[in-house]
Amino acid sequence: MSLVDLHLHSTASDGSDSPEDIVVKAREAGLAAIALTDHDTLNGLKNAGREARRLDIEFIRGCELSTKAEVGEIHLLGLWAPDKSPGLENFFAHLRAGRKERNERIVAKLQAHGIDITFDEIAAKAQGAQGRPHIAQLLLEKGVAQSRKEAFDLWLGKDGKAFEPKPVPPTGDAVAALASAGASPILAHPLLYPTPAGWLESFVKKLIPQGLFGIEVWHSSHTEGQSLELLELARKYDLGVSGGSDYHGINKPDIQIGKGKGNLHIKYSVLENLKERRAKMGLPV
Ligand code: AMP
Ligand code: ZN
Ligand code: FE
Ligand code: FE
Repeated sequence: MSLVDLHLHSTASDGSDSPEDIVVKAREAGLAAIALTDHDTLNGLKNAGREARRLDIEFIRGCELSTKAEVGEIHLLGLWAPDKSPGLENFFAHLRAGRKERNERIVAKLQAHGIDITFDEIAAKAQGAQGRPHIAQLLLEKGVAQSRKEAFDLWLGKDGKAFEPKPVPPTGDAVAALASAGASPILAHPLLYPTPAGWLESFVKKLIPQGLFGIEVWHSSHTEGQSLELLELARKYDLGVSGGSDYHGINKPDIQIGKGKGNLHIKYSVLENLKERRAKMGLPV
């Protein structure tokens, strides 16, 4: 049976494999199609696309945006991101600038705690959009933390001593930015963080008029029950359904391409259905 993985991160953001290596690993895993969905950037897509053509694996251009809702941070995937959209590029550039400024504030806090670390060291670690996983990796290498988890628990996470929030746009704005550029906005791992009962449905209802295309039903973090719940929600509002592992290489060592934590199997028909929906809307696939 043909399987796909529509949520993958590379060194263009906070994954540890290059865009080309992601494609090679997906091919080795026997996948029929993948989407590369780096945070706040389209930078890895060209190289990954070239490698995918060489290895004859279907490739979907994607991205993932962090956004804010009343319950906290909500992630949004954008599938079929166009390669020449000044509006979208501008939106991303703004988000990456926000990440840099946030990281400068984190560095200042770490330095104030006597840690020998500079912003340039972080910039050198990141080949694209900078994230906390790059800082965590540096803290690990410097012996400040013994594990990535410890780096987040003690320093970078919500309760860490150097925590700084990342400036992010409202979810509706990000949905509209993606949709108006012709990309398909999909709510990523909607049940990764707990939300009040009924909240997700009311949120989805509000986002549909802004261009919400689908829901990520299958994800490494979802239980079977959660996936079923999301599938029903998508059906109720006639939304597309997507799925992916959220692979980050060594930055999330328990997640494998195509397999997630071992129980992920996303059929090609999932991608086929997304393509049919786009075709009906007159959008390219
Ligand atoms: P950022 O985009 O810079 O806010 O960083 C978010 C990234 O940090 C995501 O890939 C998360 O999975 C990762 N992350 C957040 N909390 C933790 C944690 N406690 N341990 C490991 N990674 C984490
Ligand atoms: Zn990530
Ligand atoms: Fe995410
Ligand atoms: Fe992700």
